[in-house]
Amino acid sequence: MKKHIAVLAGDGIGPEITAGAVEVLKKVAATYGHTFTFEPLLMGGCAIDACGEPLPAHTVERCLASDSVLLGAVGGPKWDGLPGDKRPEKGLLGIRKAMGLYSNIRPAKLWRALADASPLKRELVEKGVEIIVVRELTGGIYFGERGTCTDADMGETAWDTEKYSVKEIERITRIACELAQKRSGRIVSVDKANVLESSRLWRRTVHAFATKYYPDVTVADMLVDNCAMQIVKDPTQFDVLLTSNMFGDILSDEAAQVTGSIGMLASSSLGDTTCGLYEPIHGSAPDIAGRDVANPIATILAAAMMLRDSFGMTREYAAIEGAVERTLEEGWRTADILSEGMKKIGCHEMARRIADNI
Ligand code: NAD
Repeated sequence: MKKHIAVLAGDGIGPEITAGAVEVLKKVAATYGHTFTFEPLLMGGCAIDACGEPLPAHTVERCLASDSVLLGAVGGPKWDGLPGDKRPEKGLLGIRKAMGLYSNIRPAKLWRALADASPLKRELVEKGVEIIVVRELTGGIYFGERGTCTDADMGETAWDTEKYSVKEIERITRIACELAQKRSGRIVSVDKANVLESSRLWRRTVHAFATKYYPDVTVADMLVDNCAMQIVKDPTQFDVLLTSNMFGDILSDEAAQVTGSIGMLASSSLGDTTCGLYEPIHGSAPDIAGRDVANPIATILAAAMMLRDSFGMTREYAAIEGAVERTLEEGWRTADILSEGMKKIGCHEMARRIADNI
C-alpha cells in the first residue's frame, strides 16, 4: 500500500519522538512491502516562531490532503505568555476541528514487563489492565459559551458552559459500541447525571442508541466521581469507558498513571473519514527536551494505531506492539520507566531497538 503521512513534530521533545516513530514506520514499510511518504509540517510554537501563528493554513491544507497525521506535542514556556488564541495549544484545537475529529481513543495498557512501574498493588495489576477511554472531543465545556463579567455582589466572575446535542452523543456512542463489539462487548458510560442536565441527556441518548443499533453491547452507567475512585481501586473492571470531553481528559490521565508511565500511552482522534490524528497522550516535556532521554514508545504506538485504524493494517500493528513488548522484555528502558536491574538507553536507541525487533 502507498500512504502519505503528514508529520507535525511540534515543540519540546516532539521532534525526537516523532523521528523515532518515523524510523519504526520505515522499517514496517520495508518489511511488509508498503511505501510510506512523510511530509513535515509546522504546528504549535515552532509555527508561531516561523509564521506568527500556531496553525498555518498550509498545514491544515496538507493534513487534509494526507492519508493520516502523526503528531508529537506542542507548547512550552517560551510561548506561555501569549494570549489564548495565539498559543501553541490553539493549533491543536484548530487541527482537530479542521479535520472534523470528534472522537479521541486512549488505550491505557499495563505492559507485563512494566508491572513494577504501576503505583497499584501487584496482585491487582497482575490481573491485567487495559482501559480504552473513548472521549468526545469537539463538544462540551471546552467548546461551550464562556465569558467574564463583574457581578454586582460577587465581583469578578467567569463562566463556561457544558452543552451536548443528541447528534454529538450518538456519534461518539457509535465509536464506543463498534470498539466494544471487537472486545468484551461491555461499555461503562461515565457522566454526572445526578447533577447535570447535559449528563442526563448523555445517559438517555447513549442507552437509546446502543439498544437500538448495538443490542449485543451492554452499557452500564457510572458517575464520574465514583469512576475516578474505581480506576485506582480496581482498574481491571473496565474495558471500554465512554465519556464527555472534560471527564475524558481527566480520567484518561488517571488511567494513564495507573499503567506506570505517561511516556507509554498513545491516542487516536477520528471523525467520519479514515484520515485521523495520532499522537502520544503526553505533552512536549520541555524539562527534558533536546537531551535524548524522552520515551518514544507512546508515539511509536500512536503510529501503530494509525496503521491499524486508518489503514486497516492489523498485522503491521501487531508487529509494532510485539516489537515494543520484546524490547521491554530484553530489559531496555528509557529513564522514565527505569527500574532496578534494567538497562538505560536514550530516545534514539529505544526507537532503533524497536525497529530492529520488527
Ligand atoms: P508533559 O506531558 O509535557 O510532561 C509531564 C511530565 O512527564 C514531565 O516531567 C515530563 O518530563 C514527563 N514526560 C512527558 N512525556 C514524556 C516522555 N515521552 N518521556 C519521558 N518523560 C515524559 O506535561 P506538562 O509538563 O504539563 O506540559 C508541558 C507542555 O506541553 C505545556 O506547554 C503543555 O501545554 C503542553 N502539552 C501539550 C500537549 C499536546 O501537544 N497534545 C498535551 C499536554 C500538554
